[in-house]
Amino acid sequence: MLIGSNWTFAQSGQTLEVINPATGRSFASVAAGGAEEVDAAVKAARAAFESPGWAKMRPIDRSKLLERVAQIIEEHAEELALLESLDNGKPKHLAMMVDIPSAVEVFRYMAGWCTKIYGKTLPVSGDGRQYHAYTLRQPIGVVGAIVPWNYPLAMASWKIASALAAGCTMVLKPSEVTSLTALRLGELMLEAGVPPGVLNIVTGDGQSAGEALITHPDVDKIAFTGSTPVGKHIMRTAANDMRRVSLELGGKSPTIIMPDADLERAIPDAAMAIFFNSGQTCFAGSRLLCHESIYDTVIAGIAEVAKALPIGHGQDPTTMIGPVVNKKQQDRIQSYIDIGQQEGAEAISAGSPLPSEGYFIEPTILSNATADSRVFNEEIFGPVLAATKFKDMDEAISLANKTRFGLGANIYSKDMNTCHKMAAGIHAGTIWLNTYFVVDAAMPFGGFKESGVGREVGDEGVLMYTESKSVCALLD
Ligand code: NAD
Repeated sequence: MLIGSNWTFAQSGQTLEVINPATGRSFASVAAGGAEEVDAAVKAARAAFESPGWAKMRPIDRSKLLERVAQIIEEHAEELALLESLDNGKPKHLAMMVDIPSAVEVFRYMAGWCTKIYGKTLPVSGDGRQYHAYTLRQPIGVVGAIVPWNYPLAMASWKIASALAAGCTMVLKPSEVTSLTALRLGELMLEAGVPPGVLNIVTGDGQSAGEALITHPDVDKIAFTGSTPVGKHIMRTAANDMRRVSLELGGKSPTIIMPDADLERAIPDAAMAIFFNSGQTCFAGSRLLCHESIYDTVIAGIAEVAKALPIGHGQDPTTMIGPVVNKKQQDRIQSYIDIGQQEGAEAISAGSPLPSEGYFIEPTILSNATADSRVFNEEIFGPVLAATKFKDMDEAISLANKTRFGLGANIYSKDMNTCHKMAAGIHAGTIWLNTYFVVDAAMPFGGFKESGVGREVGDEGVLMYTESKSVCALLD
């Protein structure tokens, strides 16, 4: 773990095994941190926050630092992609295309924000007196960041880059399932010249390290990405002392295919929107809403696309679908495929042959799933698509909104009027029109309803790490 400038083991001596999901075998271990390490890390983050070296650093120099971090990640792209593949199972070549560029770009984008966070002057007057009033935008302080295992480096980078751009310091707790790229990023950031204590990393599980971080009295804000139940628990806990929270949670995002859609684009997109990263994407298009006139063609098309996606080891450059992250998820996803069938959906297996070892799941379409079924409403977080048909646009919007989540939606229609009407009517944080999965550091990202609170990245994301202070002076 990284605490200040020191690399340490857990005081308890406990460790967590790091399992390669493609083989089911352990290949490393990381420290299992707890309350003591969290406390030391928060102290280091507080000291760095108050140190002149960080607090008084010119924004332009903070900007250069973040740019150097972007560059050093880029220089180590191959190594980081390999670590991500070994740890999470995802294909290395896809991590090179998605995960690593996302990390690089968010540091580069946020480097630009360091010099552009400022308040406003305000027209305050009254009772014949004159005032000079203005707002200051100040860093929130010490941030506790907790991230999941599906895009470990990218999710950590979104939080670190935004928080540091705003002038905060951080204690990061990666997922206990995937700690490796976060630890390597910590080393690289020190190499890039980030002052010790600005980023601290405590590895460990949610019950010990995570709980210690969300309850630590000297943490000013919790920035969390993960499941909705843990997000709710964090929000309740934060209410005790009104700690700031931003929460990026689960989803059950629809891909909606209108009768006039360009199916040559919509069908492969709908397949990749659920099967990419083995369905382990928070905004995966895990519900298919398809117009009844083209439903059979679309289902057959998605199955055909999926069958052509090679399933295998993440280091094989031909692999398009890797294993899911661990045995627990494999069992959970498989149980949802069984539940879907018990609920009356037809399970269409759409995968190439599975490897003999590792935690693989065949891409599966649960066709004719009903709107009130569990598989249509609960986040499965695997390569499983729950599909249903609709008659008209109103029914499509109503089905899209018939969920407690609201993270994303993909809409396919050649009529942009239809697209924009639907975009306005669907309750979700990001709507993609005739495309999917476009995530950019400039585009605020987050959820409606139980998909979260607040926005990450973009202008809104960086401001989530600041407090606004109004100052009002009487002019004599
Ligand atoms: P999870 O909620 O189980 O774990 C996420 C993190 O929270 C881990 O680091 C874990 O150790 C920690 N944690 C668990 N219990 C805790 C506790 N009591 N106190 C503090 N920390 C605790 O989620 P996961 O299974 O790792 O990730 C998958 C989930 O993440 C899915 O629901 C997915 O939709 C969501 N996700 C959301 C986004 C988004 O931006 N909205 C992005 C990626 C993933």
